[in-house]
Amino acid sequence: MKTLLKSGRIITAEEEFIGDVLIEGEKIRAVGTNIQPDADTVVVDVSNKFLTPGGVDVHTHFDLPMAGTVSSDDHYSGLKAAAFGGTTTVFDFISQDRLSLKECVDSWHAKADEKAAVDFSCHMNITTFNDQVAHEIPELRKMGINSVKVFTAYNGRLRLQDGEIFKVLRIARNNQILVMVHAENGDVIDILVDEALKTGHRKPEWHALTRPAEGSVENVFRTISLAQQAQAPVYIVHMNTAEEVRILKEARAKGLSVMGETCPQYLYFTIDDLRKPDGAKWICSPPMRTHADNVGIQEMMGQGILQVFATDHCPFFYNGTYPILYEGEEIAIPGKELGMDDFTKIPNGLPGVGDRMLVLWNYGVRKQVITPQQFIALTCTNPAKIFGLYPQKGTLMPGADADIVVWDQDNPIQYGVKYSQHRTDYNLYEGWEMQDTIQKVYLRGKLIVENGNWLGARGQGKFLNCGDPEII
Ligand SMILES: [Zn+2]
Repeated sequence: MKTLLKSGRIITAEEEFIGDVLIEGEKIRAVGTNIQPDADTVVVDVSNKFLTPGGVDVHTHFDLPMAGTVSSDDHYSGLKAAAFGGTTTVFDFISQDRLSLKECVDSWHAKADEKAAVDFSCHMNITTFNDQVAHEIPELRKMGINSVKVFTAYNGRLRLQDGEIFKVLRIARNNQILVMVHAENGDVIDILVDEALKTGHRKPEWHALTRPAEGSVENVFRTISLAQQAQAPVYIVHMNTAEEVRILKEARAKGLSVMGETCPQYLYFTIDDLRKPDGAKWICSPPMRTHADNVGIQEMMGQGILQVFATDHCPFFYNGTYPILYEGEEIAIPGKELGMDDFTKIPNGLPGVGDRMLVLWNYGVRKQVITPQQFIALTCTNPAKIFGLYPQKGTLMPGADADIVVWDQDNPIQYGVKYSQHRTDYNLYEGWEMQDTIQKVYLRGKLIVENGNWLGARGQGKFLNCGDPEII
């Protein structure tokens, strides 16, 4: 079965032109101008539309236990929401919550495989380090995993010490595994949180006030230094202050193998959002910073300093005592209300996997902060390259998987929780106008979203074995 998408504006990280994409089975067979259909080809007119690769979101958390509850999207609802938002490949993080890494990976497959609604892979969290773990890290490659994440915060739970991070970096380097780092200062955070609670400060804004920007900046700098000492590449997740990105810029200018990711919340929101009556909706870690950070990060995205735009999608209900309708059934999952009287009990995280492409296209490209080519690089091509899936994923070229998004130009909607398909009761972009919207999404040649309708299925997503990470 062949499908020819005819006369669309085709956008990749390198170029754009009016042309055609021929899909055969699960793959893109040809991309070009004036491709002629044969007798058994279905021709779809996409003139006045634009085509992009399916998005790749490498930072999400589905079905993640936290703060006495669980993130409200699982590998079905979350990956389905991703599809509606034009993302056809996602990565989430496996918790190191069992004795061996293999057991952790197996238990994650047991949760994810039968539910996955788009293609997926994962990173392994290393939150306990010892000789056995050191031995097991190289084995991850046989399980299709090429990346691990470490934390410099969450003392006593997730954090590794500098010496341990240094060792992980060296083992990773020797085995073509990329280390991702969550950079904040865990010691300072613990002291400030303790002091805040003792002095009666319990409102959401104190979440941000107890996690200072300088702690993130200092740990980005330290991370880069550790990676240099280990002679290893490193990837910094969710960069949230302009100063962090300036450090990234300097490091890359020196030729160091450092890559950086940011997320939509650090472009469009600030600590002032936490001061609203419903401020708990904006609680995530690291927290939102200042307007100057929003602007600075956007400017440096335009300069090509950052490599990846992901989401850190980790949704919770705002009011988990009140059910929503999800696929015709009522569902309520405890959420942000758990911390109504104490910011430290509010589960940390935001919905976003379905918003990412729409928000960055309409508020990044259309507002001329970044070019269409940078948009594709940040949301599709670079993440696929860095995590070893290129060119199977992240681009439109012959031989690639036929993951294709067909966009409607100038078909404005008022975005919000009614459009986003996340399994939660709010959306951060409520009321935002989206001028260009998503009409169709193909996953490996199969039409799974069309005009707001779900044509996909639970379990249709495939686990992706990652190749060698690419340092870009
Ligand atoms: Zn995260």
